[in-house]
Amino acid sequence: MAKLKIDFNWPLVGHEKITNFLQQTIISGNQNHAYLFCGLQGLGKKTAAELFASSLMCLGDGQADGKALPCGKCHCCTQYFKNVHPDIFKLEVARNEKTEKLKKNISISQIKELHDKLSRRSFLNSYKIAIIDEADLMTLEAANSLLKILEEPLGRTVIILIVSKLYRIPLTIASRCQVINFLPVPRNTIFAYLEEKKIDRKKAQEISDIAFGRPGIAISLCNDAEMLAEYKKGIGEFLKILKSTVAQKFQMLDSFLNKESDFISTGDFLSQKLDLWQGIVRDLLLLKNSSGGFIRNSFARTELESIADVFKTEKLIDLKKDLELTRKYIFSNASPRLSFENFLIKL
Ligand SMILES: [Zn+2]
Repeated sequence: MAKLKIDFNWPLVGHEKITNFLQQTIISGNQNHAYLFCGLQGLGKKTAAELFASSLMCLGDGQADGKALPCGKCHCCTQYFKNVHPDIFKLEVARNEKTEKLKKNISISQIKELHDKLSRRSFLNSYKIAIIDEADLMTLEAANSLLKILEEPLGRTVIILIVSKLYRIPLTIASRCQVINFLPVPRNTIFAYLEEKKIDRKKAQEISDIAFGRPGIAISLCNDAEMLAEYKKGIGEFLKILKSTVAQKFQMLDSFLNKESDFISTGDFLSQKLDLWQGIVRDLLLLKNSSGGFIRNSFARTELESIADVFKTEKLIDLKKDLELTRKYIFSNASPRLSFENFLIKL
C-alpha cells in the first residue's frame, strides 16, 4: 500500500527534528498518551503543542492540494482557533477573580476538573487533548492528581505538559511522559525568519542577537517596540552601574525598587535584572577573549568594548560568580534588596 502523504503547515522557527518527529506520529497514528515539552521560555514549546494538537484534530486530509495540516478552515480548526473546541482543553495558571493577578500555582481543583472533562465521551468521537502550560507550577497535590490520570490513561487521550523548569516536575510524572527537549535555535535561523518577515536588516540582526536562541522572544521584540526599548534601557542601566561610585549604585537600586513594594514581586523583578546583567558580563568576557562575534547585546557593542578594556578577565569571572550567588540568595528567600546591595558593594 502506498504510504500516505500528508503535508503540514507548521510555522515553527527552528526545531526541525522535533517537528519531523511529531508529524511522523500524526502520520503513523501512534501517539503517546503524554508528552512533556521542556526547555527555556520563548523557544516555541507552546506553539509546537498547539500545532501538534490542532493537526491531530484537523479534519482536512492534509493531501497536497492546499490542505496542509492544520488546514485552518475545517470545523475543528475553526473551533480550535476560537478556543471553543469541545475536546481540547487548555489549562494554565488562573487569575485571582478579585485582584485579577495571576495566581502562583496550578491547583488540584483545576486538575480534577480536567480529569472530569477527559473522562467524558469525546464529542466528535476523536482525540481528547489537554495542553497544560507552565505545568511546573502545579502544586504537589495537583501533580499527584495528574499522576493518577497518567497512570490510567483514558482512550485516545493526549496530554501535553509544557515545562521550563524540569526539576520542578516529579520524576513519577516525567517518567510517564515522552520527554521532548527544546534547545535554543541557531541565531542565523532566527535572523533568516525575521528577514523573511520583512524586518529591517539591522533590526533583525539586533533582535536575533538579543533573542539568544529564543524565537518567541524575537517575535515579541519585533511586535512590541516598548519591550525592546525597555530591554535596552535595562542594559543601559547596568552599563551605567559598572561605571558608578557605590553611592550612585545605591541610588540606582533605590530607583529600581521604588515601585516594587511586595517581597515576591521584588524578587521576580530583580531576578529579571540578574538575567540582563549576566548577559552583559558574558558579553564582556567574550569581548575580552576576542569572541565579540557571539555577543548578545550587539546594539551596545561600542560601549561594551570600552568597558571590557577597563575590566580584567579575573574581575569579570568574579562578577559572574557573584551574580550566580545573588540569584541563589534570592531563590533561597533571602531579602532581594540585601542580596543586591551585597552584590553592588563588591562590584
Ligand atoms: Zn482543519
